[in-house]
Amino acid sequence: MNSPALTLPAWDSPLPEALDHGWIHGESRSAGGPLIASINPATGEAWGNFDESGEPAVDAAVASARSAFVGEWSRIGGDARAALLLAWAARIAEAVEQLAWLETLEVGRPIGDARALIAQGPLLIGFYASLISALEESADGAVRRARGVVGAITPWNFPTANVLIRAVPILAAGNTLVLKPSELSPRSAVLLAQLASEAGLPPGVLNIVPGSGHVTGAALAAHPGIDMLAFTGSTRTGQAIIQASASRSIKPLTMECGGKSPQLVLPDMIDQPEIWPGVFHAAFWNTGQWCSARTRLLVPKGGLEAVVEGLRMAAADWPIGDPRDPATRLGPLASGKQYETVQGYREIARQTARVMPLSAVPDADGFYAAPELALGAPQDGALVQQEIFGPLLSVQEYGDLDEAVRLADDSAYGLGATIWGADRDAAGRIAASLSVGSVDVIVAPAARPGLALGTPFEPRRQSGFGIEGGLAGIAAFTTPQAINHAG
Ligand code: ADP
Repeated sequence: MNSPALTLPAWDSPLPEALDHGWIHGESRSAGGPLIASINPATGEAWGNFDESGEPAVDAAVASARSAFVGEWSRIGGDARAALLLAWAARIAEAVEQLAWLETLEVGRPIGDARALIAQGPLLIGFYASLISALEESADGAVRRARGVVGAITPWNFPTANVLIRAVPILAAGNTLVLKPSELSPRSAVLLAQLASEAGLPPGVLNIVPGSGHVTGAALAAHPGIDMLAFTGSTRTGQAIIQASASRSIKPLTMECGGKSPQLVLPDMIDQPEIWPGVFHAAFWNTGQWCSARTRLLVPKGGLEAVVEGLRMAAADWPIGDPRDPATRLGPLASGKQYETVQGYREIARQTARVMPLSAVPDADGFYAAPELALGAPQDGALVQQEIFGPLLSVQEYGDLDEAVRLADDSAYGLGATIWGADRDAAGRIAASLSVGSVDVIVAPAARPGLALGTPFEPRRQSGFGIEGGLAGIAAFTTPQAINHAG
């Protein structure tokens, strides 16, 4: 596996030591306590250690964020905030390569895919920075104020994007931040904070406390010095965090949790071969490890043959392999734990559905799992109802459109959905009837949805709460203040 052409760039070998520690008050801070091992998902081998920040480091980070909030950050005004965020974006644009390699090493993201997504990071920052001035205008007389010190806990599936999607609206709103990245992917968060400091963000505005969920995450969630908490991760962990968040104080929360999102192919699209690459992408991108993955496919009765043929052809364009190889499009699962979870669901698939592999995994030691279909999985079973976070797509047939909508909406989750349908009005009506936060309606078979950052949405049901995207996504991290003048 170690072809010389695929070794890490020189600066990564060894990685800068600062990436193994927290980033507090504008500098690297060793926690000096227990360490957590990092495992390379492409090999299963341990390759490094990083800090468990623990309570003292969380205390220090919260104190730093408080001093920055009451100090420079709240005084500089929206224009200066926007300028600093844009300077950060410029530093990130220069560091795409390093950030991409970190994702590949830590969670096995294919290097080409990591580069492409991270390269959009500066655009995301530019977008939110451009909205800051609008934030200060208010139609109803109330003035929007930053909340203060926000805590954030993020997952590992898109290490850089997860941090940016969370951190940028929080900072744009004028808050300061203490962020705990996943224990699988701490280093890109630390590098992002380091780049922010280099770009001139004042010390304490963006602090990173690496560590495990049950120690460092729990300390952050419960911290009474946090004015608001933003979580992205599984619904079960979200429940624990909601409880911990109220143990010593109360604080507003945003929760972006799991999903089990359907993609519904309407009868007027099932014979269009151009849809299958898009269906595959929606289900299997990032080896199925994303909360908005469309992991339940609903097709008209008699459509299974088209599904199998179409997705087998699509799979041929998604080589599975070493994530360091630019030709790879599907890497390993991110961890041994995730691998075990997916194996468990595969076993259920073998017992309750007809399993159809779409391609084969490489002969290697890493946590590889090939994309598979589970045909005819029962509606009330685990494959249809539970989030798997792996490359296993359940496929079901429906009789009429009423049944299609009923099956699509029969879920504890409410994150997203995709409707493939040529009749815009009919597809739009179905979209409006679904209890989910965000729907892609694909009218032309070869069309693909873009990154819809500008349009706010909110997850529903067990997928969480809190507005994401657009001006409302920044306003979600502010609080209105009424100042009533008399006389
Ligand atoms: P996964 O199980 O796939 O890692 P999680 O939803 O558990 O996904 O993790 C998302 C984030 O939540 C990670 O940063 C993780 O460390 C953190 N986390 C996990 N458990 C807790 C907890 N009890 N308290 C606070 N944070 C937690």
